[in-house]
Amino acid sequence: MNYYSTNKQAPDATLEEAVVKGLAADKGLFMPYAIKSLPQDFYDSIETLSFQEIAYRVADAFFGEDVPADTLKQIVYDTLNFDVPLVKVAENIYSLELFHGPTLAFKDVGGRFMARLLGYFIAKEGKKQVNVLVATSGDTGSAVANGFLGVEGIHVYVLYPKGKVSEIQEKQFTTLGQNITAIEVDGTFDDCQALVKSAFMDRELNERLQLTSANSINVARFLPQAFYYFYAYAQLKKMACDKVQAGNNPSPVICVPSGNFGNITAGLFGKRMGLPVKRFIAANNSNDIFYQYLQTGVYTPRPSVATIANAMDVGDPSNFARVLGLYDNSHAAISAEVSGVAYTDEQIAETMRETWKEYHYLLDPHGACGFRALEEGLKPGETGIFLETAHPAKFLDTVEGIIGEAVEIPAKLKAFMQGEKKSLPLTKEFADFKKYLMSL
Ligand SMILES: *Cc1c(COP(=O)(O)O)cnc(C)c1O
Repeated sequence: MNYYSTNKQAPDATLEEAVVKGLAADKGLFMPYAIKSLPQDFYDSIETLSFQEIAYRVADAFFGEDVPADTLKQIVYDTLNFDVPLVKVAENIYSLELFHGPTLAFKDVGGRFMARLLGYFIAKEGKKQVNVLVATSGDTGSAVANGFLGVEGIHVYVLYPKGKVSEIQEKQFTTLGQNITAIEVDGTFDDCQALVKSAFMDRELNERLQLTSANSINVARFLPQAFYYFYAYAQLKKMACDKVQAGNNPSPVICVPSGNFGNITAGLFGKRMGLPVKRFIAANNSNDIFYQYLQTGVYTPRPSVATIANAMDVGDPSNFARVLGLYDNSHAAISAEVSGVAYTDEQIAETMRETWKEYHYLLDPHGACGFRALEEGLKPGETGIFLETAHPAKFLDTVEGIIGEAVEIPAKLKAFMQGEKKSLPLTKEFADFKKYLMSL
């Protein structure tokens, strides 16, 4: 299947080109020409399928024309070697726990899938070394670095804003060594993202190095995020069939804590493929650019501000272009399927405290935005699912400070914390970054 650029000024790309390049030559994001619906019989029996079986059906719709079936199946099954359980938190509100992977955030799904698909293309073509550039506000860096760790033919450069990620997050990508280099940028996440984008646009750099992006602009990271929306629905339907919850129409409201909008856009693709979702809610922190867009019809990016939900501190969400593309630039069409909320740090903290007290469910600051949106916004008879995007222990100081209790740290996280941090300090000036890359 071919991919077009959201800016419509670049030639079409094959899947391989889109994955290897990351961003189109006109700075647009790649979009598949077709979003295939899945047949009714798939939805009719979805609750009988495993996560891996469901994900393979979805992956086949996206990538089946371009990747041999056995390879694709292997990639999907290897990627999803952990569960994504749907857990009841309150009456009619369920948490889709996306933090059971190796780095305890949803980005493991896209990171692991992309590493494997890119590895497949590189092996197939016998390409020279590919350099993956990834800007992170915290969780992307760890998921991508761990997904790519030790993959032959690929070197990963993780750019992160100095002092703006939690210690645990930082440890997850600065302690790995091997083919992973962490670059500590004296700036914000937006500065990191700008450096990566500038690098892709720089002719001299691209002549010298094969560069690609592992941010959610890359289709191989972005599209696999659709998998767990289908699995969430399957689990909800199973509960309804088993009468674990009332009602026999499980078409849920899905709330996604959003920063760069890759996660929610993958869900919107799922809905386009026929997944029964009543509507979506995009939950923002104080960086409420999308929320403002919904209110006014005008998209006004602005510099991000730091919040306790730091993975959502994004001032110019890159996947907004895909949302526009999906709905033909229609504000009305977007508003019909997606609503928005925005919460301050005080509201996020209050939600975490109250949910812990009332339901004994520990939210992380991002998931808290999702839970609160459902608590406030579900209409009578609706069932809500929020995406719990990371494990609360990834934000240990914040979470412990808010609930006033010690939080148990999962063994997987403890192991990272024992490593020694190694990073390369850099300014936010592109000239410095370029000089470094040219010296490789
Ligand atoms: C990345 C991230 C988000 C935001 O996801 P987007 O796809 O960028 O919208 C939300 N929560 C956590 C924990 C994250 O790591």
